Amino acid sequence: MKRIGIIQILQETNYFNPIQTVPGDFGNFGIGTGREVLEKYGKVGEIDGFVRGLRKWPGRVRPVGVLRLQAWSGGPAARRTRRWFAENLSRELGKAGRLDGLLVALHGAMMAVDEPDIEGFLLEKIRAIVGPDIPVVATVDLHAYMTPRMIENASAIVGYHTFPHVDQPETGIRAAGVLRRIFAGAKPVSALVRLPMITGGELQSTFAPPLRPIFRDLVALEGRKGVLSTAILMTQAYLDVPELGWSVLIVTDGDPGLARRKALSLASRCWPVRERLMEKFLKAPACIDRALACKGGPVVIADGADATNSGGGGDSIHLLKEMMGRSIPGGALTIMVDPKAVARAFAAGRGGAFRFAVGGKRDHIFSQPLKVAGKVASVHRKAAYVLTGHGGNNLKIDMGRAAVVRIGDVTLLLVEKPGPGSTPLMYRCVGLEPRDFKIVIVKSPLGFRAEFGPFAADIILSDCPGCASSRFDSLPFRRISRPLWPLDRIGDWRRVPWIRAANSLENP
Ligand SMILES: [Zn+2]
Repeated sequence: MKRIGIIQILQETNYFNPIQTVPGDFGNFGIGTGREVLEKYGKVGEIDGFVRGLRKWPGRVRPVGVLRLQAWSGGPAARRTRRWFAENLSRELGKAGRLDGLLVALHGAMMAVDEPDIEGFLLEKIRAIVGPDIPVVATVDLHAYMTPRMIENASAIVGYHTFPHVDQPETGIRAAGVLRRIFAGAKPVSALVRLPMITGGELQSTFAPPLRPIFRDLVALEGRKGVLSTAILMTQAYLDVPELGWSVLIVTDGDPGLARRKALSLASRCWPVRERLMEKFLKAPACIDRALACKGGPVVIADGADATNSGGGGDSIHLLKEMMGRSIPGGALTIMVDPKAVARAFAAGRGGAFRFAVGGKRDHIFSQPLKVAGKVASVHRKAAYVLTGHGGNNLKIDMGRAAVVRIGDVTLLLVEKPGPGSTPLMYRCVGLEPRDFKIVIVKSPLGFRAEFGPFAADIILSDCPGCASSRFDSLPFRRISRPLWPLDRIGDWRRVPWIRAANSLENP
């Protein structure tokens, strides 16, 4: 009987979000230790896939729950959060007893205030506890920032193949398959090739051109003999780390030359499409003009710079401010994370007057609190739902208490905690139907299209200030390696010195 330990420690960091991520943010998503990991979270995301994948093994195998810590995207992990990860890992791996292998679900783009590479730190910690001989297969999001330290401390790494992310369970199943091949004698070797480019999420869909054909070939390559896993990792761009950029990771069975050739060939195909991944954006006034000129509704305006899906604060005031000054027949619907404003609305009660400065408290660098005067339409003890689709499967979301405030033609949903900004459920969970409004604001660069696209009369991408802006020149990067496209013009990407060093390209 093989005993396979299962761990998930997952958060996506936006380094420019000033609110640090603390253990309580993980508590909000449910902490699982030991048996609870499978009892409570066995049907969620990658863990679901791990269990399903292990069931396909021919021999006797038992999944052993060890630890599950997940938080929604946000600011960097606090110092104490990193210590808390390490303490939890030591304690729970100690309790788990003998393990023959490990499956570990990570994001790949988590940073702490004092550690730029949390996943490297976690895998190093796990490796130190279980020793050098136990196979450890880790999964990462397609927006992982891959590091040599992660690769060295895992036996193999398996990345998502989709964006919008709808393949978390499949990724878990693939990881269990790689672990099985390691037990059957496979010797994983990895090749990592970096590209000097970052791109916004708006046009990164793996289901549409220009990336669809590249991802089709990436997936087909994983089915080839001798190839264990393939990934194009487009990285979370809102990290202030050296060697930030896209990367290609290919893992083969004992064939480093094949891994390297395939990684270089796929990287060479990603580079020329970069210009086609640059979206056009409109300033807030132009967004509202175009929405009002649209015959039908709802018009969906994406506030990608404040995307909670990209680790933004979810409390930008820019589109709200613009809409408050307008007459919007049919009304506008928007959302904001502001626990103080929720408390004020609860104090006023349903029907009460609401005068308060909302927003600009979490992302206080790109927004300032905005004074509003309106009326409390409703208050809700809980704004919660279960997410399946982009970003999660069977994932419980709890945005805390909520209040709906009417300010002129604008309906503002105030919530205490952030959740996905890409699903209509964020509004529907308190009885607001996005289809009933002329304008609906979403806090996501791309993922919202899956569920809002089918009923949107028009989709507009806004250019507002925010810590998840795709206007990278507006962000205070200090540690990234330069040149980096699109901040810098680059001719031959293989001749960029830091790329040559990172990829060991002696003969470009
Ligand atoms: Zn992602």
